[in-house]
Amino acid sequence: MNYQAFLIKYAEIGIKGKNRHLFEDKLVHHINRALASVDGNFDVTKEMGRIYVHMDGEYDYDGAIEALGTVFGISGICPVVITEEMDMDRLKEITADFVKAVHPEGKAATFKINARRPWKKFPKDTMEINADLGEAVLLGCPWMKVDVHHPDATVNVEVRQSGVYIYSLEIPGLGGMPVGSNGSAELLLSGGIDSPVAGWMIAKRGVQIDAVYFHAPPYTSERAKQKVVDLAKIVARYSGRMRLHIVNFTDIQLAIYEKCPHEELTIIMRRYMMRIAEHFAEQDGALGLITGESIGQVASQTAHSLLCTNAVCKLPVYRPLIGFDKQEIIEISQKIDAYETSILPFEDCCTIFVAKHPVTHPILHVVERSEHKLDDVIDDLMKTALETTETIVIGS
Ligand code: ATP
Ligand code: MG
Repeated sequence: MNYQAFLIKYAEIGIKGKNRHLFEDKLVHHINRALASVDGNFDVTKEMGRIYVHMDGEYDYDGAIEALGTVFGISGICPVVITEEMDMDRLKEITADFVKAVHPEGKAATFKINARRPWKKFPKDTMEINADLGEAVLLGCPWMKVDVHHPDATVNVEVRQSGVYIYSLEIPGLGGMPVGSNGSAELLLSGGIDSPVAGWMIAKRGVQIDAVYFHAPPYTSERAKQKVVDLAKIVARYSGRMRLHIVNFTDIQLAIYEKCPHEELTIIMRRYMMRIAEHFAEQDGALGLITGESIGQVASQTAHSLLCTNAVCKLPVYRPLIGFDKQEIIEISQKIDAYETSILPFEDCCTIFVAKHPVTHPILHVVERSEHKLDDVIDDLMKTALETTETIVIGS
C-alpha cells in the first residue's frame, strides 16, 4: 500500500486548556527530530486539532514507523491514503481497493465505514457516503460483512476540500508525554541495566533528561566510559538531546577508601554521587534526580540504605524502578534496545571499591559521623571533581 501521510494520535490526558499548544508543539518537534534521519521528505503539520506527517514522493515506510515508535506522546500511528479524486464512483473503487489491500481475506471478516465530511460542499452527506462506500466494499471484498457495532476493521474516510483521507490501521505508539512538556531531571547514569531504563521511564512522562556518570580511571577503563556514552545515546533516541557530565570520581573514592569504615564505602560513595549530581542538576536547571534503584536489589538499596542516600538530597529523587523486580527491568531494557549494551562486561566504578561485607542497615548518624573523617580533604576533592568534569552533548 502506498501511504501519503500518517495521522498521529495522542492521548488527551494533561493537554487540556493552555497546555495543549505546548504539548503539540513539543510533539511536532520530536516527530521532526525522529524523522530527520529517515529517507524521504516529511512535512509535519497541525491541522484541525490533529497532527499529520505528509510524505512527498518516495520514502522509507518501515524506517518512518520505527522512528515514530521512539516518540513519547504518540499513542497511535495511522497510515493514510490520500486521494484528490472526489468523484463518487472513483472513491468507491479506491475504498474497495484499500480494504482489499489492508484487510485481505483471513485478516478481517467484518467492517464499517466511518465517514466524516469536514468539507460541507461535498454533494453527499456522511450517511450516504457510509452507505455507498460500504456497498462498494461488500462488492469488492466478498469475505467482508458489515458490523457497525464491533467491526474487525473500521475504515475511516474523511472528505476534505483538498482530498479524501482514508485510513484504517493504527500502529500503537509508546504513549506517555512529549519530552520537554514536564521540565527536566538529572539522571545518574551508570553502565548497568537499571539506570538507562529509569531515565527512559521518566522521559516517557515528558521530562527532558541530562545525565551524570562517575568514572574512576585507571580503575575503570575508557571502554567502560564508552559504554555509558553508548547507553546515553540509546536513551537520547527517545528523550532527545542530553548533556552527559563525566565526573572523575577516583580521588574521592580513594579518600573514602582510605579514611572511612570499609563496610560503609558504598553508602558514603552513593551520598557523594548524589551531592555531585545535585550540583549538575542545579547547573542544568533540572527539577529532580533520577536513579535506577529498586528496594532490596543490593546492599546499597535496602530501605535503610535508601534513607541514608536520600538524606543528602534537597531535590526530589525519582526512582521509577523502586518496586520492580530485576526481570521486569530487563524486559524494558530489551524493549528499548539497551540490554545488549548494558550487559557488556566492563567494570563499574562501584564494583572495584566494594567491601566484602557492606552494611545493609546503615544508621544515618553513624554514616554522617564516618563522613567527618573526610573533612580535611573533601572540599578540595569535590572542587577538583567539578572543575575537571567533561561535558558532552549527545543526541539531536
Ligand atoms: P545500574 O544497573 O543502573 O548500574 P545497579 O543495580 O548497579 O544499577 P548501584 O550500583 O547500586 O545499582 O547503583 C544504583 C544507582 O546509582 C544506579 O541505578 C545509578 O542511577 C546510580 N549509579 C551507580 N553507579 C553510578 C555511576 N558510576 N555513575 C552514575 N550513576 C551511578
Ligand atoms: Mg551499577
